[in-house]
Amino acid sequence: MIKKIGVLTSGGDAPGMNCAIRAVVRAGLKYGLEVYGVMDGYRGLVDDDIFPMERYSVSDIVNRGGTILQTARLREFKEESVRKIAVNNLKRRGIEALVVIGGDGSYMGAKKLTEMGINCVGLPGTIDNDIASTDYTIGFDTCLNTIVDCIDKIRDTTSSHQRCAVIEVMGNHCGDLALFSGLAEGAEMILTPDHVLPEEEIMASLKKLYVGKKKRAIVIVSEKMYPNIHEFAARIQAETGFETKAEVLGRVQRGGSPSGFDRVLAARMGAYAVDCLLDGKGGICIGMINNKIVDYDIYEALKLPRDKHASMLRLIDVLQ
Ligand code: ATP
Repeated sequence: MIKKIGVLTSGGDAPGMNCAIRAVVRAGLKYGLEVYGVMDGYRGLVDDDIFPMERYSVSDIVNRGGTILQTARLREFKEESVRKIAVNNLKRRGIEALVVIGGDGSYMGAKKLTEMGINCVGLPGTIDNDIASTDYTIGFDTCLNTIVDCIDKIRDTTSSHQRCAVIEVMGNHCGDLALFSGLAEGAEMILTPDHVLPEEEIMASLKKLYVGKKKRAIVIVSEKMYPNIHEFAARIQAETGFETKAEVLGRVQRGGSPSGFDRVLAARMGAYAVDCLLDGKGGICIGMINNKIVDYDIYEALKLPRDKHASMLRLIDVLQ
């Protein structure tokens, strides 16, 4: 049976990562394992920035955003020679297995490390909800609530001044944050990679609102859909008559205290990851499907088609 495991966070930070770290540490210790924290994602493995964690290392962190282990992106980790340094550092310390909390890029690193003899389990820590092997990623719900909170405030001004607000939200190439926040806000228009509208149609709908009774509009746009969101807003203003401002919510979306949902999700997934490592599993990632915690082979998980939420996309029109 394994005796020593490590835990790290990698890729973009997400609220709830700390709850996942806590769950891994507490469950690991409970089952008699030694648990080691790795700083700065894969970089800490290569630099041997690894330290023993105890019960109290994770006290009082459930409500903190970000990650106490810090996170990083290390391009060089794609090279086998660099991963070999990491494996040697782990082996020298007797650490036989790892929990990697991050996005799909981090999953690839975890799979490759497993192939080199270190069993790794991935947890989906990203606000983007862009991992098909789970209904929800850790951080998505908190981020969604932050967006809703921000848009509620922007809405006040939009209504008072009869304006159009074009609001760009995160999600990388995944439209879930835009779709969910758009439905939560009853936005006049939602534009995501799964819901693209021709520009003439966008202008015509907004113009109809402008000349009609509803003298304000909220347009929610997924990041990376328009090369320059401010120019898009300027075109709306020119073509519809609406005084229009673009708001890029930016990194405020990534921070903050995790929601109750994200905390519980992280706790369940973290504890399950330790169970998997104790069962000798590796090269897998954890998900929650229909409220059940499950595991997938990482390569299989990365091939799964993403749920495009067809029934929710339908609601964009139904609820207008
Ligand atoms: P986010 O969704 O927040 O972007 P992510 O985990 O997808 O998170 P990436 O930057 O893609 O973020 O990946 C994180 C790290 O994982 C990379 O910096 C690199 O160290 C490692 N990684 C990514 N792809 C691979 C790969 N093919 N092989 C080995 N390691 C990889």
